[in-house]
Amino acid sequence: MATIPRLRDDLRGLAPYAVGKDMAPVRLNNNENPHGPADGMTNRLMRAVRESLATINRYPGGSPERLAAALAEYVAPWCRSENIWPGNGSNEALLYLLLAFGGPQQKAMLFAPTYAMHEQLCRITATPVAVVARDDDFALRAEAAAAAMEEHEPTLVFLCSPNNPTGTPLPPDVIATVLRYEPSLLIIDEAYFEYSQLPSAVSLVRDHPNVVVARTMSKAFAFAGARVGYAVGHAQVCAELQKISPPYRMSTITEALAMAALEMADLIPAQVAMALSERERVRTELESLGYRVADSDANFLLFGTVPDDHAEYEYYRDRGVLIRNVGPRGWLRTAIGEPAENDSFLACAAERRRTSR
Ligand code: PMP
Repeated sequence: MATIPRLRDDLRGLAPYAVGKDMAPVRLNNNENPHGPADGMTNRLMRAVRESLATINRYPGGSPERLAAALAEYVAPWCRSENIWPGNGSNEALLYLLLAFGGPQQKAMLFAPTYAMHEQLCRITATPVAVVARDDDFALRAEAAAAAMEEHEPTLVFLCSPNNPTGTPLPPDVIATVLRYEPSLLIIDEAYFEYSQLPSAVSLVRDHPNVVVARTMSKAFAFAGARVGYAVGHAQVCAELQKISPPYRMSTITEALAMAALEMADLIPAQVAMALSERERVRTELESLGYRVADSDANFLLFGTVPDDHAEYEYYRDRGVLIRNVGPRGWLRTAIGEPAENDSFLACAAERRRTSR
């Protein structure tokens, strides 16, 4: 009698990344852009899909070169397609970075709480990882980063700018400090960079072949369902990623959709501005209700503290508002939605405060 194949010993006890299954009319649980595509955009996307269907019997190009060129143009004037590795979401870019440059001989380090997939991907790729706690305000400061570099001597460092789930900005002097220790790879996750008030770290790639920036179209581009992300790095780094990539990794349709969405990048600033002004409105209301709210450089807020974050999550869910309790104990994360969605969220927060006193 055949037995069920055994998962690798080192992966025993690994839980899958928790994707919430609850549904509710107001969904503020995944830090998405609340705006679906406008009418004109839907037509443009439909056209792109229709055109790509003409060759759907053929494999895509070996690597998505047209998309890499279009992303390079979006990233910076100096950036070339050789500096871009497009992926099915930035999660895939992060996975391939660890497959190529991680493993048992390396030592990774990250500053928690941070994006849970960073640690998960280390485990999946058998990369030992040191988890360093952030300060009580969830900020990451240069002195703390230096002390952690000295103590753990990592070869591979993760930074997240701005950080998820805390929203906190990443001061540029933290990056400079980490680079002084010359790790073999510094991954800077900029999933939310379009919302940030700080300059992107991509320009570092020009002088630092050990820096790779991971980005996504899931957030500001409002394209989470299309699954498009990318790594920005030295041409040789992207070439190494290509070596370990199976051919035809991205579908013709994904590439065509992403190219069309990139043509509409000029819609982003207005949506970002709305998200930031709504974020400050939500912050002010939460604070006036007596919550602590972490500093945010992104399209979401981490707020607390509550005695039982799961009960708090359920309270909102039962009133039609999905938020997230993925972060530190006693804290909750809410994305910034459309003004009416934020109103629903704030109404729950106010009611919760009133009834729990
Ligand atoms: N990095 C961070 C910090 C994120 O928050 C997310 C998604 N929540 C990702 C990467 C992955 O995004 P995607 O795979 O959709 O590009």
